[in-house]
Amino acid sequence: MPDMPDSDTPVSVDPNRLKITNDDSSEGTLVGFRCNECSTTVFGPAVFCQSCTSTDLEAVDLGAKGTLFSYTIVRIPPAGWPGDVPYVLGQVELPQGPQVLAEVVDCEHDDLKIGMAVELTLQAVPAENGEADKAVYKWRPA
Ligand SMILES: [Zn+2]
Repeated sequence: MPDMPDSDTPVSVDPNRLKITNDDSSEGTLVGFRCNECSTTVFGPAVFCQSCTSTDLEAVDLGAKGTLFSYTIVRIPPAGWPGDVPYVLGQVELPQGPQVLAEVVDCEHDDLKIGMAVELTLQAVPAENGEADKAVYKWRPA
């Protein structure tokens, strides 16, 4: 059993992209901005609309579900990659339009299908330097 005391609850790896929605940091929603001029929605931080350059942006929750748009199987990971190799890097399209890159877990490579429904899953990554552990977002089959 993993030891997860309350005082060590993971924090979002990036509050501009992931908002934690429960007490033990096992659930969350992606966040971004929607343009009030043209309704274009982006994942993550923005100061102006990429489509019409309006600065009339509204912070929005983007939820925790999407569909697999594309993926690649990574056999040579970036330096410091903490997980298994090879791993699946999925490009997932959200219902609002933006796409989100993250690892796809809990799925055999042969079972991956373009267009399959996926949902967010959070995993705790131990932090370095005494900081709080980080909750990172990944995709899994929905
Ligand atoms: Zn716009």
